[in-house]
Amino acid sequence: MKQSKLFLPTLREVPAEAEIISHQLMVRAGLMRQLVSGVYTYLPLGYRVLRKVQQIVREEMDRADAQEISMPAIQPAELWQETGRWDAYGPELMRLKDRHNRDFVLGPTHEEVVTSLVRDNLNTYKKLPINLYQIQTKYRDEVRPRFGVIRSREFIMKDAYSFDTTREGLDKSYDSMYDAYTRIFTRTGLTFRAVEADAGAIGGKGTHEFMALSEIGEDTIAYCTSCDYAANLEKAEVVYKPAAEESTSQIEMEKVSTPDVKTIEQLMNHFDMEARQMIKALVFKADDRFVVALIRGDHELNDIKLKNIVDANVLTMATEAEMSKLGVPVGFVGPINLPDDIKVYADSAVRDMKIAVTGANEKDYHYKNVVPERDFTVTAYTDLRNIIEGDECPRCGGHIAFARGIEVGHVFKLGTRYSEKMGAKFLDENGREQPMIMGCYGIGISRTVAACVEQNNDENGIIWPWSLAPFHIHVVPVNVKNDEQKQLAESLYEKLQNEGFEVLLDDRPERAGVKFKDADLIGLPIRITVGGKAGEGLVECKVRKTGESKDIHIDELMTYVK
Ligand code: ATP
Ligand code: MG
Ligand code: MG
Ligand code: MG
Repeated sequence: MKQSKLFLPTLREVPAEAEIISHQLMVRAGLMRQLVSGVYTYLPLGYRVLRKVQQIVREEMDRADAQEISMPAIQPAELWQETGRWDAYGPELMRLKDRHNRDFVLGPTHEEVVTSLVRDNLNTYKKLPINLYQIQTKYRDEVRPRFGVIRSREFIMKDAYSFDTTREGLDKSYDSMYDAYTRIFTRTGLTFRAVEADAGAIGGKGTHEFMALSEIGEDTIAYCTSCDYAANLEKAEVVYKPAAEESTSQIEMEKVSTPDVKTIEQLMNHFDMEARQMIKALVFKADDRFVVALIRGDHELNDIKLKNIVDANVLTMATEAEMSKLGVPVGFVGPINLPDDIKVYADSAVRDMKIAVTGANEKDYHYKNVVPERDFTVTAYTDLRNIIEGDECPRCGGHIAFARGIEVGHVFKLGTRYSEKMGAKFLDENGREQPMIMGCYGIGISRTVAACVEQNNDENGIIWPWSLAPFHIHVVPVNVKNDEQKQLAESLYEKLQNEGFEVLLDDRPERAGVKFKDADLIGLPIRITVGGKAGEGLVECKVRKTGESKDIHIDELMTYVK
């Protein structure tokens, strides 16, 4: 591609709305532009990178015997009502109506559509297992779209769905996807880690997240420095367990009024200053419920070291649907039934507060007499709850460290959750009807691009790994008015392309300084500068990653770049 013709609007200035490096660089290097909050257009360079990720994903999915299909982005509400997610999904679901006033959604994910597809078209064990995938645009009305395409409202996802006849079959499908993901993220050049994720929803080791390691990541990972143990701290440890019968009898429901509290910050304003300094609220998501806890004020709200919440007081819970009806993006704390031995909470400002509305899973009610260990139990990853940095690994006794991660992929054993609700059954060898056993597997394609930029950059711009680079080689004639340089650059451009390289030729009549700045910003792996020594057949080869540069004779160029 000739740069003079390329739609590549680069920027010197850092865009004001971009908080993190990858977002800044993706805009500055002309990869993308925002249309509206959380919705982006990919420009030619950005789209090339996106397609590279898609290609890697496609190759590895095909290799794992998954079959590519393409499902509609627009989905009828009826399917979502079948699974209960029409209510449960909350305000993140983009809803719309057609001219007949029928409800639709713009798909945030495709369990419903794929399950209905398989239900209606496949009903014998002979055709199972099967794994169907697509690479497609997803819609989620995120509370806080941010970080460019890391958390956007329209984004590209690869989503795959496996259907098996047995649990063992599901395990195999799952492992095969896990391996494919490992190959995919290795090929993208990301530094990543597969971590055990929220076990609550399904129990057992049924889900892993693939985390690109990064300081800006929204998740905290605890990992062992000796073995391969790693888990997502924010999700794995607290699991809601329904109260036992005898304890339920002690729990009372109390009616309360609905305050205008939408965020933890607003909530905190209901506390007087002293109390505000003493307590903090913390919201977990466990299964499809939110669990709200107070933690002692000497710990930071965003300090997720779990030691700090061991003696937290679980106060109230709400389903996602309830939260959404109230327009509450996070959880909040209720009138408090405080154990007397926790001094901090005994503050009258806190005690008299009537601000909870969602407890007891009924609007305008909350629970009283809830005892954390009796009515809510920490299961599955109990050992994790106490983990702090430096602790012993629950698996091997090694040393636990923390890291931040960006969730780029997620594999999940669904079991029969969807197939039972939607009646997706098959006939087994004995002619008996059984629900299909499902798994789902997602990769954020656009988020992966951003995570790659986040991990690979310096003060001058992006440093693309070979596998994702929009072009491999940047040929830059210093002065295009000089015939010798111009001709040599053009002949190298042709020759390199014939050898199978993707080449960008900077044939613009710009000053050398401008071209070099743009070249560093765009960050192609190799830059070949054709300058004053063109007459002697010498060009300068510079490796973007190391900064290493060398004069090379054009006769040796091919062996060098290979
Ligand atoms: P997160 O915890 O970041 O909100 P998620 O757990 O809701 O992500 P999944 O439902 O597991 O996401 O979707 C599969 C993948 O899609 C994620 O692993 C992530 O890479 C990507 N993804 C999810 N939400 C977004 C988004 N708003 N923008 C870009 N990519 C996203
Ligand atoms: Mg999400
Ligand atoms: Mg997640
Ligand atoms: Mg996820």
